[in-house]
Amino acid sequence: MQKDEKINTAFFAKKIKTAIHNRENFYRDKTTTAFRVFNGEGDGIGGLTIDYFEGFYLLTWYSIGIYAFKDRILEALKKQVEYKGIYQKKRFDSKGQYLDDEADFICGDKAPEPLIIKENSVNFAIYLDDGPMVGVFLDQREVRKSIRDTYASNKTLLNTFSYTGAFSVFASIGGASKTTSVDLAKRSRSKTQEQFTINNIDLNKQEIIVEDVFHYFKYAVKKGKLFDIVVLDPPSFARNKKQTFSVAKDYVKLLKEAIEITNKNGVVIASTNYANLSIDKFKAFVALAFEELECKYKIEKHFSLPKDFRVDDTFKEGNYLKVLFIRKIG
Ligand code: SAH
Repeated sequence: MQKDEKINTAFFAKKIKTAIHNRENFYRDKTTTAFRVFNGEGDGIGGLTIDYFEGFYLLTWYSIGIYAFKDRILEALKKQVEYKGIYQKKRFDSKGQYLDDEADFICGDKAPEPLIIKENSVNFAIYLDDGPMVGVFLDQREVRKSIRDTYASNKTLLNTFSYTGAFSVFASIGGASKTTSVDLAKRSRSKTQEQFTINNIDLNKQEIIVEDVFHYFKYAVKKGKLFDIVVLDPPSFARNKKQTFSVAKDYVKLLKEAIEITNKNGVVIASTNYANLSIDKFKAFVALAFEELECKYKIEKHFSLPKDFRVDDTFKEGNYLKVLFIRKIG
């Protein structure tokens, strides 16, 4: 920001206009109709993201400071884009938790529930006014594509912390012989079934398990289950009645359990969105897990944020996503 630049509608309009200009290719692509239009610091305003879902816009406020400018930002956005409707999520309480104090709908038409969007020609059911999460994490787009296009064919895939099963859907479309999705949340079963159904995927070849991932690993080892691909995408922190999980403290253990139930020459896809963990540290976790199991490996692919999640070089924490495709050798 220039020192004497005024924070008015024109200021926001300029930032939003530039952001939209930088996403022209995304707007043009008919096979992907959901992407990030504005990514906080990466587009010059911290604390605000704007996502596009098939004509609808979703603003997420991460700080009360930026929320104070809501009216001006909305005015600026409305001037720049044609929209069907605009929604918001407030995530600015002290822990970044979602604040459900009023409807998330702001103006325009209400979106259908679900709203069906496309990602690389695959359908996703999106709910813009149903709690903090809308049904898909857009930042994993390239990972899902890679699973579908180069990894899934004729393979079995275990998707842990599966949420709505997005990785399983792409694997199945890529020809996986079977997918198994595991998530603790009860809603994950119907949500995952829905994503399969809207893509005409045979539910008989898909297993959906509502269970703690750590229990599932024990069960899988006991039963001698092995998978060709195991996806690990845990939340950075999670707490249940008995224990707390944190990426920083528990990822090596998680990796070891995943490696143990991965077939020879299979692949572990290890993901984390924990901003405070560097890629070097994450790779060191991988090295340690394989070393402790006396097992060889090769990192085949490394994904970070896709282009629509713009990152400012001076704000390194903004580049939070790290995904490694690791081949278990021998
Ligand atoms: N991988 C998902 C996103 C994961 S979000 C995707 O690509 O869409 C994190 C998920 O982990 C949530 O759905 C939450 O219910 C689940 N979760 C948290 N702790 C868990 C545990 N111990 N066992 C299984 N699932 C857990």
